[in-house]
Amino acid sequence: MKSIISFFIILTILSACRSRKSDLEEVIRNISVNDLENYVKELGSDRFMGRKPFTEGETITVNYLADQLRLIGFEPAFDGSYFQKVPLAEISSTVSEIAIAKSSKILLKLRTPDDAAIISPVLSNNITINEIDIVFAGFGIVAPEYGWNDYAGLDVKGKTVVVMVNDPGLYTSDITLFKGREMTYYGRWTYKYEEAARQGAAGVLIIHETTGAGYPYTIPRKSSLSPRLYLNDTTKNEPLCSFTGWLTSDAARKLFSINNLNVDSLRLAACNKGYRGFPLNLSITLEIKNDVRFSESSNVAGMIRGSAKPRECIVYTAHWDHFGIGEKEDGDSIYNGAVDNGTAMAWELAIGKAFSALRRKPARSIILLFPTAEEQGLIGSFYYTEHPVIPVENIVACINNDGMLPLGKMKDVTITGFGQSNLDSLVGKIADTQNRYVIGDPESHTGMYFRSDHYSFAAKGIPSLYAKGSTESREHGIEWTAGKRSSYIENRYHRPSDNYYPGEFNFEGIAEDAVLSFIVGYELAISDFYPEWRSGSEFKQLRNR
Ligand SMILES: [Zn+2]
Repeated sequence: MKSIISFFIILTILSACRSRKSDLEEVIRNISVNDLENYVKELGSDRFMGRKPFTEGETITVNYLADQLRLIGFEPAFDGSYFQKVPLAEISSTVSEIAIAKSSKILLKLRTPDDAAIISPVLSNNITINEIDIVFAGFGIVAPEYGWNDYAGLDVKGKTVVVMVNDPGLYTSDITLFKGREMTYYGRWTYKYEEAARQGAAGVLIIHETTGAGYPYTIPRKSSLSPRLYLNDTTKNEPLCSFTGWLTSDAARKLFSINNLNVDSLRLAACNKGYRGFPLNLSITLEIKNDVRFSESSNVAGMIRGSAKPRECIVYTAHWDHFGIGEKEDGDSIYNGAVDNGTAMAWELAIGKAFSALRRKPARSIILLFPTAEEQGLIGSFYYTEHPVIPVENIVACINNDGMLPLGKMKDVTITGFGQSNLDSLVGKIADTQNRYVIGDPESHTGMYFRSDHYSFAAKGIPSLYAKGSTESREHGIEWTAGKRSSYIENRYHRPSDNYYPGEFNFEGIAEDAVLSFIVGYELAISDFYPEWRSGSEFKQLRNR
């Protein structure tokens, strides 16, 4: 209860304190559509070469961000530098055809990457998988709090497990099963890879299905073809599978039909608590050649020191990286990432500019962080939370954004991870003043709360916010907005067509989001308040530690 009361106190102070209020109003007026558009136009241009870590595009991008931070009055966050070096290993995997056999007799051949998108995360050059057994392991989940263990009684050591995407809650009408349609962390491919490795499996294959994955097969297909980055943190010794990947639903259908099994029926069966997976009495053979490079990428960050409590801070995040230059589509090979993530970098810079323009500096520090290698698994933000400039327990909150669609003003503020923390109530208060309503993510089954940089902070117990207007256009309504969103996912997301489209892009909604996110950070920065996870949140116990 205490925290809710504190919120009202904060807001009351705010409305009572005139000078502070006019200061705030003035800087809010300066969050401009023009600024946002210019940043996106610039960051989404070909000059940045798709902003890929390790490339010339990285150098251009991080220098640009450092220049912008300097221009808006943020000082370097890392001992006089805007850059934090992040040690990485880059791996490119070339994968052979896959042979599925029964008693050494080949019954099925699968092509990569059309039937299966496979990579190897290990730092060796040659990986040979020779006739190792395949085991079906349901959803591949071990979740003690739900009394769930898909690996119970299964011997998967040195074998390949095949698992379903997402979690059982998605596929039944039972809202008490996991979190119903909302994806838990157990539904993420990253989790499934981690768990399979903990169980000692040599390989793991997830059966793709578009609703459960949240994106079409073209996404893992494409990422299996490009070099991938891993944190090269030699102090950590986590188990890894020799290979990981996805099967198309069609390839999975062929695989299971060898044993007269039907994938859809198996998925439904696996939704039952106590369901037991089984060996398929089939083996898999494939070869992987890894090309490994070691290098460093950079996180970029600037800060404004707090006037009274500089060792406490609010961190804003928007990843700078994207996919660089890759497979050509319609004559275009530059993955500009104007929306993903030019828009959120613009949002963050506009917020920074507002903080910098305040006549009365907030008590707590403000950090603007642009993490690297988000697209490769939130690597830069994870590294930052392991090596923060202000200790994790003094990070009051993380406020992140990613892939903001420039669709004009929105009636909603959609909070991904709604209900996780009492930051929701603060957002609600501010949304009211913008005549907007707050809702949870209608696509929570895609697990977005685990798919952008705020998750790295949440995983360290820091209440983290990911909120933006994305559900109901003020002018065109809900259906129009849903159409725009799915057409973006279908036609532009992670493709060379994610460009800046002058005339089409309308930044008024992003400007409102920037105002809202700025005030959230401002309220926290002038108070003593530490937001809290709500009871039932999987992150609450982490903060208490
Ligand atoms: Zn993104």
